[in-house]
Amino acid sequence: MTDLKSRLVRQIEMIGPLPLADYMHLCLAERSQGYYRTRQPFGPTGDFLTAPETSQMFGELIGIWLLQTWQQLGKPAPFCLAEFGPGSGTMMTDILKAVQVLPEFQQAARLMLVETSEALATTQQEALSDFRLDKKWCTSLKDLPSMPLIAIGNEFLDALPFRQYVKTAKGWHEHVVTLDQNRELTFGIGNGAIDPDFLPPNAEAEPVGAIFEIAPAREAFILELAQHLLEHRGAALMIDYGHGQSGFGDTFQAIRNHQYADPLTVPGGADLTSHVDFAALRRVAELAGADVKALKTQADFLLSMGLLERAGMLGQDGDMLAREKLQRQVERLAAPDQMGELFKVFAMTGEPIHLPPFDPEPPSQNDH
Ligand code: SAH
Repeated sequence: MTDLKSRLVRQIEMIGPLPLADYMHLCLAERSQGYYRTRQPFGPTGDFLTAPETSQMFGELIGIWLLQTWQQLGKPAPFCLAEFGPGSGTMMTDILKAVQVLPEFQQAARLMLVETSEALATTQQEALSDFRLDKKWCTSLKDLPSMPLIAIGNEFLDALPFRQYVKTAKGWHEHVVTLDQNRELTFGIGNGAIDPDFLPPNAEAEPVGAIFEIAPAREAFILELAQHLLEHRGAALMIDYGHGQSGFGDTFQAIRNHQYADPLTVPGGADLTSHVDFAALRRVAELAGADVKALKTQADFLLSMGLLERAGMLGQDGDMLAREKLQRQVERLAAPDQMGELFKVFAMTGEPIHLPPFDPEPPSQNDH
């Protein structure tokens, strides 16, 4: 048994079953043995391959989006450029290369990398050491300076804890991690219930055993981000896998060595996530008063930002093998059966400004 597993077993014996959010938080963020504290999860040798690790084009196109957004905001100087959960620092590396075309942007930017894992913060520092711009690391949105903000995050929201409720004959009860007769971790039904007002419509029609997921930590984060944008101006772009409408279903997943694993077998040894409910995030951001743009699929976003053109440019100087590699990267990022449709791009601004590619230019009068 791993140390973390035996600690979890003892904790459940002492205080009772753990809600999934607590289990997930301990597995990912526990001080000495949490997944993100101990591992370098990214890339071919890690557990999973994220979009920035798939291709430099991903970060480059986000870089172009940042330049456009900064211009739409009226080129605030100084402004805070923040990345949440920068992982290995690959996306920010590609972004900083791409934004070099506009030196005023770099001069105005105060870069903040928001990262809770000390190990990953060190990796990011090494990755970004060659870039000469004002950059700092912090652990929370609360640490961001009081100035206009342009924030980004890829696969950050899914890493924040979530809860599950299961429909039983006696109503919806919290899904928990508990122990079986052999003191092994297993799923169980807890006493906690959920206010039916939080359930999507038609909850009565769901069969016993149906699952509903809710992520208060993600909603709290988006609320705080929206409030920050309203107070200081700015825009945010969050990319993650998930759905545009709230619904029912179990999306709890563990990934280890590029494969799905049982979330309970190796606590701290696998990445634990669930799909992001973007409709829930839209509701909290709009309630706060932010201007939330229509959700885009990753494919739609990247193609509008010029993915194919960029691949074409990079391929010009390469041989056949290089072009095939670029083709595979484009497919991985944008094909509907790969990351293209499951991944969504959520954007919001503090004020209702025009934000390409979410608000396309209206067709000019000459277009028919
Ligand atoms: N954006 C990267 C990494 C995604 S993994 C990529 O796309 O490759 C999630 C990242 O979020 C990791 O860097 C993890 O350490 C960080 N993270 C998780 N919870 C966090 C929190 N509450 N605050 C800040 N960073 C967090």
